Amino acid sequence: MSDECIFCKIANGEFGTKFIYEDAELLAFRDINPQAPVHVLIIPGKHITRINRLEDSDQALAGKMILTANKIARDERISESGYRLIFNCGPDGGQEVEHIHLHLLGGRQMNWPPG
Ligand code: 5GP
Ligand code: ZN
Repeated sequence: MSDECIFCKIANGEFGTKFIYEDAELLAFRDINPQAPVHVLIIPGKHITRINRLEDSDQALAGKMILTANKIARDERISESGYRLIFNCGPDGGQEVEHIHLHLLGGRQMNWPPG
């Protein structure tokens, strides 16, 4: 837990954010500024700043984030139409919130290359 981290505060329930998925390690909630009809953020409760700070002991946690995103995609009925999973890392990666989060985006055709 980091006192200044907005996602730690969300995980602590400080803003009353509705979680669409929750277990002992992970939480998922809708992005406040959605970039697609489905835009969900999957975060660990544990405060890890960037994916390049993940340690070997976080291997199961990191894998679980992807499997949980797949589960949410099924719940959101975008599993077969397709979706995009994104981890932004650091300044060039476009990361704004320094608490790792996996973006799940879907419900529309995605473009490539990304901006
Ligand atoms: P990043 O650019 O760090 O990969 O993505 C951060 C994401 O968090 C952005 O898409 C932004 O809209 C979202 N976000 C920032 N603050 C909040 C918040 O207070 N609540 C929610 N639900 N999403 C947030
Ligand atoms: Zn945090």
